[in-house]
Amino acid sequence: MNTALPSEPCAHPGCGCKVSNAQTFCSDQCREQAAKTDADAECACGHSDCIVEEALRRGEPD
Ligand SMILES: [Zn+2]
Ligand SMILES: [Zn+2]
Repeated sequence: MNTALPSEPCAHPGCGCKVSNAQTFCSDQCREQAAKTDADAECACGHSDCIVEEALRRGEPD
């Protein structure tokens, strides 16, 4: 039984998601983005937690 909780940051620089293993991407979206030249672009994995992190980081007005 795997009881490890996600505690490592996603390997995508612009992603706020947590993953179970370091140097791991939370999704194929992050893996594909990080392989491109615009790896610093905002994450598009679509995870709710990540979206919250992005919103806070950008400080967009509500
Ligand atoms: Zn993400
Ligand atoms: Zn990610």
